[in-house]
Amino acid sequence: MDQGELQETAEYIARDERWGAHNYHPLPVVIARGEGAWVTDVDGRRYLDFLSGYSALNFGHRHPALVRAAHEQLDRLTLTSRAFHNDQFGLFCEELAHVTGTEMVLTMNTGAEAVESAIKVARKWAYEVKGVQTDAAEIIVATNNFHGRTTTIVSFSDDPVAHDNYGPFTPGFITVPYGDADAVEAAIGPNTAAVLMEPIQGEAGVIVPPAGFWRSVRDLCDEHNVLMIADEIQSGLARTGKLFALDHEDVRADLYTLGKALGGGIVPVSAVVGRADVLGVLKPGQHGSTFGGYPVACAVGRAVVGLLETGEFQARATELGEHLHGRLAELEGKGVAAVRGRGLWAGVDIDPLAKTGREVSMFLRDRGVLCKETHERTLRIAPPLVIERDEIDQAVDALADALTA
Ligand SMILES: *Cc1c(COP(=O)(O)O)cnc(C)c1O
Repeated sequence: MDQGELQETAEYIARDERWGAHNYHPLPVVIARGEGAWVTDVDGRRYLDFLSGYSALNFGHRHPALVRAAHEQLDRLTLTSRAFHNDQFGLFCEELAHVTGTEMVLTMNTGAEAVESAIKVARKWAYEVKGVQTDAAEIIVATNNFHGRTTTIVSFSDDPVAHDNYGPFTPGFITVPYGDADAVEAAIGPNTAAVLMEPIQGEAGVIVPPAGFWRSVRDLCDEHNVLMIADEIQSGLARTGKLFALDHEDVRADLYTLGKALGGGIVPVSAVVGRADVLGVLKPGQHGSTFGGYPVACAVGRAVVGLLETGEFQARATELGEHLHGRLAELEGKGVAAVRGRGLWAGVDIDPLAKTGREVSMFLRDRGVLCKETHERTLRIAPPLVIERDEIDQAVDALADALTA
């Protein structure tokens, strides 16, 4: 044990609850160390991480190449602000643009900021390039979306828990059923700036839209001069077996929002990447962030890009994802009502007659697997992409036991 004060799990939890705002409902486990796909609690018990920090830990805990990049940067330079150039920023932007096949990069910190930035850019583009009348721009979004927690973003959330009592809300958003291309078409008008959606909806329970949906959205956007914005903050960066979840559809977005795994689970790094003529509407002073693109973020981000360039993680997600989905399919009808997903990412709907998501999460914790429900009856499974095949088996066996226990 290397922590200063040895304490009981219950003491840590009691302190969290006494002093920390209650905006989360964590599982009762207190983690002290992490390595690869494994974490260790304050009592030395080990657990397989089957959540990966909501995909922020795609490369596992403390990937050596990422930790090395962070250490080296910490020993040289941490922050300059964008008032000056630094020797990491341009390289990060260039390398990220290169690996994503895009033309320009706008760096921010959190996912919500990337989405906010994309909304601002799309509106500005609508007024200055498309010719939409001042303050009339509309953005089409999907039911059950999750794009973050700012006041503008929760303005178009239809989840009452995320939305209620945060008004007055930001106008200018039109909600259509997720996966319904006809509804997107019907919602497009002369003032439409953009369609903003997740290629696969994460928080909603890993919802994959019908085949052909994204091709139709792309065609509609081209036809009506509307920007297509893909929020790949959770679905992107190798999770589904490709760099972007949209790549499975052979469709390119005009803008992508990236976050979570972009910071390697070490620092918050987010970005909007895409067309230079769209991001080019931003001129000096019109948008910014003190930490956005700071040297530590860029150094870690460059190391993340380096890992993505090898293709190793995409290949693992494909191969191991097939295995995971094969194993999960065996549970259908045995306590599992439905399984969705792609790559190393699955939404598992628990049979309403079996257990709640929370009960299953607690059972799994006792069996050394950390998972978290999203909504009442859905488990979201997203192990680090460094996980091994037999570790997946171990976790799925535990899940099978949880459902029949
Ligand atoms: C997590 C998430 C966000 C918000 O990211 P934060 O870093 O928590 O602000 C936005 N969009 C999607 C799709 C996400 O999964």
